[in-house]
Amino acid sequence: MTECVSGEHDFPDEDETGAYCEEHGVTMLFHGPPITPGDLAGGSPPAIPQRDH
Ligand SMILES: [Zn+2]
Repeated sequence: MTECVSGEHDFPDEDETGAYCEEHGVTMLFHGPPITPGDLAGGSPPAIPQRDH
């Protein structure tokens, strides 16, 4: 099992692609960063810092 990002328990719902914690509203994909309710509500991709030398 994979530990929830809260660090309090393992994900109750987990398969080969990711895991989901209803209690904390967190979706963990094994090939990417955690998806939070804020990400889903935002609708825009996260800002990528531009390197300016
Ligand atoms: Zn949790």
